[in-house]
Amino acid sequence: MRFLLIGGAGYVGSHCGRHLIARGHQVEVLDDLSTGHRAAAQGPLHHLDVRDTDAVTRVLQRGFDGVMHFAALALVGESSTQPLRYWDVNVGGTLSLLLAMRRAGCERLVFSSSAAVYGDAGDAPITESSALRPVNPYGRTKLAAEQLIEDAGAEGLRAFRLRYFNAAGAAPDGSLGEAHRHETHLIPLALRAAADGGALRVFGADYPTPDGSCVRDYVHVDDLARAHALALEALAAGHRGGALNLGTGAGASVLEVLRVAEAVSGAPIARRSEARREGDPPSLVASPARAALELGWSARYTLEDAVRHAWAWHSAPRFP
Ligand code: UDP
Repeated sequence: MRFLLIGGAGYVGSHCGRHLIARGHQVEVLDDLSTGHRAAAQGPLHHLDVRDTDAVTRVLQRGFDGVMHFAALALVGESSTQPLRYWDVNVGGTLSLLLAMRRAGCERLVFSSSAAVYGDAGDAPITESSALRPVNPYGRTKLAAEQLIEDAGAEGLRAFRLRYFNAAGAAPDGSLGEAHRHETHLIPLALRAAADGGALRVFGADYPTPDGSCVRDYVHVDDLARAHALALEALAAGHRGGALNLGTGAGASVLEVLRVAEAVSGAPIARRSEARREGDPPSLVASPARAALELGWSARYTLEDAVRHAWAWHSAPRFP
């Protein structure tokens, strides 16, 4: 089958492209390269902004069996200081894509959503029927985009909304990895600190968690990619879609991640205790049971695997 990956030059999108190709599918990428990398795109690149509805329609009219939509701004902290930009790109971009898909007669979508739609959900594993109470603009834009997609079901759209917990790691063969121009994520920053001897800032020491630092569910990017491929294939086979959590079901605190990063890199990581980061809920851990039921998917890689693959990528990245 032939799929269009909106935002396919970014971190999760490029890994999904690689995975789809390995499964025998064809991939084209539509990306404005605002945060993605040309070298990461896994197929012909349409260098466009998803908000350009007419141009996206023309690309879709070439004929695709489905669309994956990754293009978004995705930094919790930044969303708190630039909320309108987040609404414009994340919600405006999704609306533009849905209009283009309707015009082009394209009815299958896999959407990158986020655990941020749940907000502060407590420390129990989060199910898809947990309350949706996002605590930052990023999460609110993802929830609004999900609602748009649900409403578009009345006009024939079938979609999976995949709620990622914390994407982590790199391709096991070292061919792809995380390469944000302005890095804010824990694992790459921890590995950078291990490599250059700098300190890692730990945001918050007084959360209601076992060691006081935030707990997250780190899921390997290749596991995410496999879930996306399964989701598109299920839609093509007639599945109606829905919302699915993608996580491992196990949480790790910031301090635990640092210990894993030290073990993998063999270097000590200095910590600097800082105030809480705006918009961070204390704990986000998935119940991945529904994804297992609907797609037969569960994570195969561990946090250690993700950090090991990220360390290999960090040591020799292929693109800046
Ligand atoms: N974090 C941290 N120091 C950093 C970067 C992140 O303590 O330099 C914490 C952050 O507060 C959060 C967790 O690590 O609790 C994961 O953050 P990240 O930005 O990687 O992902 P997010 O959960 O925001 O999607």
